[in-house]
Amino acid sequence: MTYLDHAATTPMRACAIEALAKHAGAVNPASQYASGRKANAVLQEAREQIAQLLGADPVEVIFTGSGTEADNIAVRGLYAASELDRVVASTIEHPAVLESVHALERTGAKVDWLSVGRDGHVTDLSALDTPAAVATLMWANNETGAVQPVEEAARRAQAVGTPLHVDAVQAVGRIPVDFHALGATTLAASAHKFGGPRGTGLLLAQRSPAPQPVIVGGGQERGIRSGTVDVASAAATAAALAEAVGEMEAETARVRQLRDHLAKFILATIPNAVMTTQEPALPGHAHFMFPGANADAMIMLLDQQGVEVSAGSACSAGVIRLSGVLEAMGIGPEEGMGALRITFGRTTTAEDIETIKALLPDVVERARLV
Ligand code: PLP
Repeated sequence: MTYLDHAATTPMRACAIEALAKHAGAVNPASQYASGRKANAVLQEAREQIAQLLGADPVEVIFTGSGTEADNIAVRGLYAASELDRVVASTIEHPAVLESVHALERTGAKVDWLSVGRDGHVTDLSALDTPAAVATLMWANNETGAVQPVEEAARRAQAVGTPLHVDAVQAVGRIPVDFHALGATTLAASAHKFGGPRGTGLLLAQRSPAPQPVIVGGGQERGIRSGTVDVASAAATAAALAEAVGEMEAETARVRQLRDHLAKFILATIPNAVMTTQEPALPGHAHFMFPGANADAMIMLLDQQGVEVSAGSACSAGVIRLSGVLEAMGIGPEEGMGALRITFGRTTTAEDIETIKALLPDVVERARLV
């Protein structure tokens, strides 16, 4: 099997599986007796390690149940904590953010959208120069891999006192992330994107303004995310992040070289192929469009031959529609419905690239006949 969908999820690292197994028996870390204190010590160690790796203070690390949950808490919670009713968001946010913004819109929020160019990057940040309850901009887009101008966004939001949320789910573990240096109010990450367990998210949240809770309960995690924290998952997340950050420099160079090699081949071999991914971008992301080809057919034909990739277009109730991200970039259905996202990770080898090279020209040709 040739797995080339690391943006969807990446296999769990051995060190994370080890940490998960080692701490699977941990009790409630809020319990006062010895085993509770022991569980809490493991949790705090994971919190400290994550904080250090991401340039945050331990108190700013909030464990959540997913990246989606972290995004919801940040966007809805910062809005709820503000007196203002204005929201600023980019048009290419992941549904975890986009649907949170739409939910606020339905309750009366006024949304100003940051538009993007055909290269997938936000073009104009001036909406950030007027105060808002919350502004939100992703660090890197999950479809195209385009890295957004988050540093400038943070500077401009800070200048007018707007809390900024950054969805860094695709960025953490792949490119350097320093929460304090960035100056955002909140930042979301997800463990399964960097070799940690699925179902564990991270929200980095400055002390003030803090998001109001979206769910209420026992007041764990500064009251921002109530619910008993899974100690084993927290330890596994810290272990995976430490390994990902440790090998980042070497892995960036390695996957970028594989990506560039494949891109060069595709653009030279497949007629009318377009590389959607434009720099600055994540090193292991390659998004292509093959005008006139059917994305579902390409995925199916590759899958039949053991190659796993994904499309840019979303399938809703059996109707294939153009990806909202591509649409926001001004791309039409002829190009956008023939989109393929190929993403690389630490298990990707040169052999995997040769495998897809041998299949793709024929697959695209056949998918253009559908
Ligand atoms: N934000 C982005 C940019 C993502 O790519 C994803 C996952 O694909 C999420 C948020 C949601 O993360 P999770 O799968 O942990 O809910």
